[in-house]
Amino acid sequence: MKGSSVLIVEDSPMVWKVLKHLFEARKDLSPSFAANLNEAERYLNNAEKTYLVAVADLNLPDAPNGEVVDRILHANIPCIVLSSSYNDEKREALLDKGVVDYVVKESRYSYEYVIKLIERLQKNQFIKVLVVDDSKSSRAFIRKTLKQHLYQVLEAEDGVDALNVLQQQPDIRLMIVDYNMPNMNGYELVKHIRHKQHNKNLIIIGLSAEGGGALSAKFIKNGADDFLRKPFYHEELHCRLMHNLEEMELFEAVKDAANRDYLTGLFNRRYFFQMAEKVYGNALENNKQLSLAMLDIDYFKKINDSYGHEAGDYVLTKVADVLMQKFARFTVARVGGEEFCILFNGLNAEKSKQLLDSFRNLIAEQSLIVRDNVLSITFSIGVTDNLYNSLSDMLAKADQCLYQAKQAGRNVVIKD
Ligand code: GH3
Ligand code: MG
Ligand code: MG
Repeated sequence: MKGSSVLIVEDSPMVWKVLKHLFEARKDLSPSFAANLNEAERYLNNAEKTYLVAVADLNLPDAPNGEVVDRILHANIPCIVLSSSYNDEKREALLDKGVVDYVVKESRYSYEYVIKLIERLQKNQFIKVLVVDDSKSSRAFIRKTLKQHLYQVLEAEDGVDALNVLQQQPDIRLMIVDYNMPNMNGYELVKHIRHKQHNKNLIIIGLSAEGGGALSAKFIKNGADDFLRKPFYHEELHCRLMHNLEEMELFEAVKDAANRDYLTGLFNRRYFFQMAEKVYGNALENNKQLSLAMLDIDYFKKINDSYGHEAGDYVLTKVADVLMQKFARFTVARVGGEEFCILFNGLNAEKSKQLLDSFRNLIAEQSLIVRDNVLSITFSIGVTDNLYNSLSDMLAKADQCLYQAKQAGRNVVIKD
């Protein structure tokens, strides 16, 4: 991984100011500013530092003709070019050299676009792309193009080979597939993957040198997300990839939001039970350990009554943050107003009780400031690792233990 450092080589104080402002909102990116080629050299010569990407002005006091771009590309750093004017020829020459993009300094939006590109590159480092093509030179060209945008690239030489790679590496997110290949052609491969319903999140982009519009339609009808005719311009491939990835990321964000509780960000009741059924089934089938805990805040109504509903909400978000941190390895959900559930996959109740007791003590010892009042919150908790006959029996038992905890005076964990 290349970290999150960004080198900016730019002599205009106005551009510095705009970029600095935009970087302030992105705390995960750390920019270094150089005003000329000489200063940039000093950054680039520092062997201890690696850069995710460089943003470079073509016209610098000591490098008036884009010399800095060659220096950056030579250091194997992706480069986004800033230019004060649009020039078609220059633009194409730079893209052919391997820069990520050519951005004209027109307005605030140009700089926002630069930040968007940087964020894309940051994410690309974690995206695995499988290139399926029987032509070695075609694979090499696509690999080089993808590498310029920091994707992780894997290769397969036909459909059969691709299926093997996909099976070994199920986290491949994107596949670029040629049509004409021995053993299994691209179209058969796409059909096979989509029929089997494997790799549902895989983006597929078809390629072909022949076949015209009918072939692209055939590819897309059978499950490809997009199609490109060979030979294509590298920029076109990048646009298609970016477009498809953004769409998928948006879809995933919406899906994730639908699974979460709006107030606390924990999983919601619906998602939790859907997930728990699967984990329960797996534990039953494979004789695996599983425990389930029900947690309930003590005398929560009093907080609402004394300090207002908003204060109650604040307390809920605070305890949820602790739950999320303490039980990051497990599935935690808000299943009711001030009720939470935790699924401890692989743990017996003895072990999970230990963790729950440590959480219970941590919360009880913490003081929360609510409207200038110091509050201390406690939890009552019930836990079981007996699978009984169904998940709902297990839940009923955990709930019964929770009830016993309340009866026993609260702030306690009761194990089945
Ligand atoms: P016990 O110790 O027996 O659990 O007492 P309790 O007061 O915690 O339990 P009770 O079930 O009587 O009250 C729960 C309260 O939680 C009542 C309800 O108004 C409040 N509540 C439920 N959802 C929310 C929420 O989203 N925000 C806030 N602020 N309060 C909520
Ligand atoms: Mg309660
Ligand atoms: Mg309750």
